[in-house]
Amino acid sequence: MRAIAITPRQTGSLRLEQVEEAAGDGDPVLVRTLAVGVCGTDRELLEGQYGEAPPGRQRLVLGHESLGRVIRAPAHSGFETGDLVVGLVRHPDPVPCANCALGEPDMCRNGRYTERGIKSIDGFCQEHWQSDPGFVIKLDPRLGLAGVLLEPASVLAKAWEHIERIGLRSRWAPRRVLVTGAGTVGLMGAMMGVQRGLEVHVLDRNEAGPKPRLVRELGAKHHLRFPAFETDIVIEATGSPALIAQSVAGSAPGSIVCLTGLGGAAHAASFDVAALNQSMVLENRVVFGTVNANRRHYEAAARALARAERGWLERVITRKVPLASWEQAYEKRPGDVKTVLCFED
Ligand SMILES: [Zn+2]
Repeated sequence: MRAIAITPRQTGSLRLEQVEEAAGDGDPVLVRTLAVGVCGTDRELLEGQYGEAPPGRQRLVLGHESLGRVIRAPAHSGFETGDLVVGLVRHPDPVPCANCALGEPDMCRNGRYTERGIKSIDGFCQEHWQSDPGFVIKLDPRLGLAGVLLEPASVLAKAWEHIERIGLRSRWAPRRVLVTGAGTVGLMGAMMGVQRGLEVHVLDRNEAGPKPRLVRELGAKHHLRFPAFETDIVIEATGSPALIAQSVAGSAPGSIVCLTGLGGAAHAASFDVAALNQSMVLENRVVFGTVNANRRHYEAAARALARAERGWLERVITRKVPLASWEQAYEKRPGDVKTVLCFED
C-alpha cells in the first residue's frame, strides 16, 4: 500500500513509497485512512530536526493527525465496521513510569514514550493502519472530514483541563481569555474558550484572509496588536519570547498563562527573569507549558468538536490535497490554516 515516509534526520528524504501492511500485536482494529492533517511538526520532521524510525528500520511513516474508517474490529472492542475513528499519537513507555502506568503518557516522566509518525512507531500516512483498540477514539459520524481536527483539538482540551485544575487553587471566576496566534492550535483553544462562555480575544498578525474571519465567526474578537486590557487566561500558541513576556506582563493578577507553542531556535531572545519573577510572585501568576494529550483529552476534544458548528470546522481546513499530489500538502502557503492530505476523493 502507499505511504508517505521519511528517513528520520535526513533532509529531503520525504517520499511516497509502497510499504508492507504492518502486522499488529494481538487483536487490533483495522482502519482505512480517510485523511491525515499536516502541521509544523511534520515540516520539522522532514527538515530532519528530529524523528526516530521504528526499531530495526531506517524508515518512518509520517502522519500523526489521523482520520479513518474501521474496516475490521475485534468482537467486544467497542468498535464496529464503518466507525469514524482517530488514532492516539503517544503510547506509554515500556517501564512504565507512574504517569504512563495510569494512562497519562502525555505526562511521561522518562521520555521513553513512543509517538506515531514521530518517534519509533509508524504514523497514519498510509492507506491502512492498525491499532490496539485502547489507542483508537470513536467520533460522532456527522463530523466527517472535520474529525481530522481531533488530534490538534486534543492538545487544547488538555491545555484547558490543566488551566482549570490550576484555577482551583483559589476562588476563580475567569471572564476573559487571550489566545495568541490564529493557526489551528489557537483556533481550537479559542473555540473551547467560547464554548466555556468566556470572552475570547485572539491576537494574530493577519489582517485579511481566513484567520481573522474564522476568529470573528467564532464570536471572538480579532486583534492585530496586543490588547491593552488584562485577561484572566492566556493561551500562547506562537512560542515567540516577546509575546510570552507580554502575555505574562499584560495578564490580570492571579492569571494563568498556558504555553503551547514552540518558536524554535530561530526566536532565540533573552528574557528578563527578574521581571518575570516579580510579576509571578507579587500577583500569584502561573505560567505553565503543555504538550500532547491522553485518552481523556481526546474524548473531551471529541465532545468539543461535536458541539462546534460543522461548517466552521470545515472552514478551518483551508486546503485539501489528494494523495496523487501529496507533495503539495507539505508546502506552506499564505492563508493556510489546516492542510489535509486526502486518501479518498
Ligand atoms: Zn512514561
